[in-house]
Amino acid sequence: MRDTVLPYGKQWLDEDDIAAVVEVLKSDYLTTGPKIEEFEKAFAQYVGAKYAVTIANGTAALHAACFAAGIQAGEEVITTPITFAASANAVLYCGGTLVFADIDAATYNIDPKEIRKKLTTKTKAIIPVHFTGQPCAMDEISEIAKEYNLTVIEDAAHAVGADYRGKLIGGISDMTTFSFHPVKHITTGEGGMITTNEEVLYKKLLLFRSHGITRDEAMMLDHQGPWYYEQLELGYNYRMTDIQAALGLSQLKKANKFLQRRREIAEMYTAAFKDTAGLTVPFQQDGCNSSWHLYIIRLNLEQLKSDRKEIFNALRRENIGVNVHYLPVYKHPYYQQNGYQEVKCDYSEDLYSRIISLPIFPKMTNQDVQDVISSVKTILERNEK
Ligand SMILES: *Cc1c(COP(=O)(O)O)cnc(C)c1O
Repeated sequence: MRDTVLPYGKQWLDEDDIAAVVEVLKSDYLTTGPKIEEFEKAFAQYVGAKYAVTIANGTAALHAACFAAGIQAGEEVITTPITFAASANAVLYCGGTLVFADIDAATYNIDPKEIRKKLTTKTKAIIPVHFTGQPCAMDEISEIAKEYNLTVIEDAAHAVGADYRGKLIGGISDMTTFSFHPVKHITTGEGGMITTNEEVLYKKLLLFRSHGITRDEAMMLDHQGPWYYEQLELGYNYRMTDIQAALGLSQLKKANKFLQRRREIAEMYTAAFKDTAGLTVPFQQDGCNSSWHLYIIRLNLEQLKSDRKEIFNALRRENIGVNVHYLPVYKHPYYQQNGYQEVKCDYSEDLYSRIISLPIFPKMTNQDVQDVISSVKTILERNEK
């Protein structure tokens, strides 16, 4: 058994990251200086989008995208129950109503056939979430959006570097949002980004991030002098600092190295668990590459003597920092108490009862990976019926 707890996710910072931050601390700009624009340009280029907007965090990114999509009271937004609450909360911030479409039992991502069943005349947008880093069925989702004139906001908090049919996630839909929380692919401490190819959306996102205020004469109704600015929308202070942007730039240079290591770890797990009867390994889609934010095993409970909780606790006792992602969003007390108590998505609920997220982060050593593999195998074999 390990003598220290192996977390499920963790950042990787080197001396060059620290130096990049210190350089900003010694400069004239602490916030909204040159590093913001540099980070935005580099990130847009990395994912293959025309524009990128830095923002305070991934949740603010979703909020800004919902604002730019024009979501308001009385309108419906379709998303998946198997996601972090923020993907859904952003819709509520704008006064919209959530409609949960069930997942595909194989990929764990929102099922386009279920989206079609949930469309109404009030549907305004779809928020597909690339859960674990596995790309959603974007061709099918884009087709539905086109057919019904809906906005697509991809929640790519798990999907920096993931690709779908030859395209990197971030340049496909109207808007794509990212998070730079320390457990995600690259980190800025707290931080987020929205990418888009549409200039109109880009301008709305910029306004929203900074109080709805502009100094751009072309956008103002009046121009009283050099001091003058106008508030055009009800925005927020959702700005990222230059300190964070410098860290993000430095991290972005290593994004491919991090990604490659995540993929190696995932391959080691999948190879090791191929013949383990008690679990199902993640689905590998043709023509797509996951970015492996999470590696989730799905327990074949029918073949086991114990339930998920017992297996989970046994892994924790072995100092393997396992987790569960996620309770279906509508099951949270807030949602149950605010109009979503009748929602039922069978595949999502079944998945939730069987899943365990194993540690996966680029700085894991091969020994760490072997520790996880041997604990999982031992515990599951001991529990076989
Ligand atoms: C992390 C995460 C977010 C929110 O990002 P923050 O930067 O923590 O605000 C949103 N959606 C998903 C799926 C996430 O995993």
